[in-house]
Amino acid sequence: MHPNDNEQLSFQTRCIHTGVDKDSSYNSVITPIYPSSTFYWDDLNTTKGYDYTRSGNPTRTALEENIAALEGGIQCRATSTGMSAITTVLHLFQPGDHIIAADDIYGGTYRLFAEVFTRMGIEFSFVKMGDAANVQAAVKPNTKCIWIETPSNPLLNIVDMAAVVAVAKKAGVITIADNTFLSPYLQRPFEFGVDIVIHSTTKYLNGHSDVVGGCVVTRDKEHAERVAFVVNALGLACSPFDAWLVLRGIKTLGPRMEAHQRGALALAEMLDAHSAVEKVYFPGLPTHPQHELAKTQQSGFGAMMSFDVNGGRTAAEHVFKTAKLFSLAESLGGVESLCEYPETMSHASMSLEARREAGITEKTIRISVGIESPDDIVADLKHALDTIA
Ligand SMILES: *Cc1c(COP(=O)(O)O)cnc(C)c1O
Repeated sequence: MHPNDNEQLSFQTRCIHTGVDKDSSYNSVITPIYPSSTFYWDDLNTTKGYDYTRSGNPTRTALEENIAALEGGIQCRATSTGMSAITTVLHLFQPGDHIIAADDIYGGTYRLFAEVFTRMGIEFSFVKMGDAANVQAAVKPNTKCIWIETPSNPLLNIVDMAAVVAVAKKAGVITIADNTFLSPYLQRPFEFGVDIVIHSTTKYLNGHSDVVGGCVVTRDKEHAERVAFVVNALGLACSPFDAWLVLRGIKTLGPRMEAHQRGALALAEMLDAHSAVEKVYFPGLPTHPQHELAKTQQSGFGAMMSFDVNGGRTAAEHVFKTAKLFSLAESLGGVESLCEYPETMSHASMSLEARREAGITEKTIRISVGIESPDDIVADLKHALDTIA
């Protein structure tokens, strides 16, 4: 039996086996990279399933089958970046349509909505999505979609997916979830009635900070067909090599997420107890206002967190200079720990007013916890905090 045929396989087994068997020539155990841009026809009616790599490629298909199985969808399309995955799904809409999103979504998504698709005639409302009543209040006759990102970036607010999906169903509109922050290992939005899931595979799915990529997973045949059409028509698919890297990364998704979470919990507990820290934003702490909600829709708390450091920018700069195991860098989800300053880095594309409105200040430091030994990263960051002047 082929592993793909057995839906009963556990998540981690699917990570390793689903989609990967693609070589009948030499029986290689892993999926080969097929860089060929074109595939020849045996005759005018016959191909082996591929004709041109923008439209389809065996290495990319392996990744797509794999991710579709992990999220529980019927189709995945792997794209060149997370932003191109979002660009793809925005093409399900047309001028005059209205989309509701949270006011603390990923900065690049906000920019794409506010500065690109707005000019193409799509309307957006940005609301505080922590309360589903705000979403309900924003629904208009031309609303077509509610955009969900949970947990949010950088302050780890949780969106109640079931409640927002209920608002969407009542209004007859679809929901799209950006599941980048947790990966399907910890959260599967389809189980809460979401219609389409997107990812930046740059983050946990690939997990090694050596590729940028994205994907769109669908569960409905009509959405699947339109997404496949748009990715091909706009030319947004990822390269075979990038697909191969992400497929390799996913094989260790489960063990990596477990290791990420061990470090994250240890770090959050240290931060929570440290006198130089004013506030910790991590849903895994029982003091997080949505800790209980997180438990109902996530099977873990992930490894992203932020904290407010006493002393503002000067103190933050000391931490960035002193911590040795946390590179000062944007992005997240890789095996190495990173820290960054939303104020001038990841969220610089938001206006000052929008940042303050969302709760991002000069005190805020965001951490992506890697899979180093928890003792080492806790000691390293603690030393940086202990030595603030
Ligand atoms: C990084 C990220 C994106 C954008 O993905 P790219 O691969 O950088 O294009 C979108 N959403 C979230 C939540 C992200 O973290």
